[in-house]
Amino acid sequence: MIIVPEAAIADLVDRAAAFDAVEATFAAMASGDARNFPVVREALPGPEEALYGFKGGVDASAEALGLKAGGYWPHNLERRGLINHQSTVFLFDPETGRPTAMVGGNLLTALRTAAASSVSIRHLAREDARVIGMVGAGHQAGFQLRAALEQRPFEKVIGWNLHPEMLPNLEKVAAEAGLPFEAVELEGLRAADVIVTITSSFAPTLMAGHVGPGAHVACMGTDTVGKQEVDPELLKLATVFADEVAQSVTLGEAQHAVGAGTIAEGDLTPIGDVIRGVHPGRTSQEEITLFDGTGVGLQDLAVAAAAVRLAQEKGVAVEVEI
Ligand code: NAD
Repeated sequence: MIIVPEAAIADLVDRAAAFDAVEATFAAMASGDARNFPVVREALPGPEEALYGFKGGVDASAEALGLKAGGYWPHNLERRGLINHQSTVFLFDPETGRPTAMVGGNLLTALRTAAASSVSIRHLAREDARVIGMVGAGHQAGFQLRAALEQRPFEKVIGWNLHPEMLPNLEKVAAEAGLPFEAVELEGLRAADVIVTITSSFAPTLMAGHVGPGAHVACMGTDTVGKQEVDPELLKLATVFADEVAQSVTLGEAQHAVGAGTIAEGDLTPIGDVIRGVHPGRTSQEEITLFDGTGVGLQDLAVAAAAVRLAQEKGVAVEVEI
């Protein structure tokens, strides 16, 4: 099997490679060629208070089979100087069941998550979108913003965060792209043509009144039962898309709106249907579109497979017999 260490990923998988892998995966999921397996997420006993789990799937169109194993160890940083999110992707030969690769999954997770919201912006935001608004300014926010900025000729970044002292993280990414950054109140987000939410919130912060007509909203923080970033009323106003509808209504942002009966599961469209031309996506300049990016195992497999391919091409893949 091939081993691609975590340290090699940065030189192998760029934003374009992650984008292509995730876009193709969403299309394969919508066409029925690929499916995610039920997610396992368990609290581990002991003083580390860790959450551990698996996200897996199979993609017949890409001959991909495997899983990402990992989770969240909240004391890693303070106790050992290690990052709190830890994951590894394992790929298998779907014909034989033999393991084909083990790939460091930490940076890949950040890249595939950023790719998901940028795929949604590419396919659903207005062509004339020029102002991007961020809700959230933590580790993942910089990745989301960098990838989003490549999708339209944005001229300004605005942002809000519960902890305003973190906003310089966004300002830095805007400056790298040569763009001005302005910290705003939530009401100020009405000026944004695209809004990306990426927080670990358990209560809605972005309300329907904070979003202007014609905006595209990518909700990326809600990936667990109980988390919530946006007002269910916003999902009622918007045309709602998801990476995977089943996951969106159970552990994504739509869990709340569907749970409360504000919208129905049938109101959601897999974004893959837009990518493969089965659904028109946005149909007017005034329509609000909303993408619920819950994070699926197939995204991890897709970027890991790209990492393996690129490692082999560059001659940096480590091969071991298992
Ligand atoms: P982080 O800890 O670095 O940042 C957390 C962010 O949430 C910060 O901006 C913080 O100010 C904000 N925040 C914390 N508590 C809040 C609250 N009660 N209300 C509003 N904002 C609050 O985390 P991160 O790595 O940037 O991840 C952010 C979120 O994205 C997490 O919920 C994570 O699980 C999720 N995530 C989703 C995917 C996916 O595929 N959808 C992938 C990776 C991470």
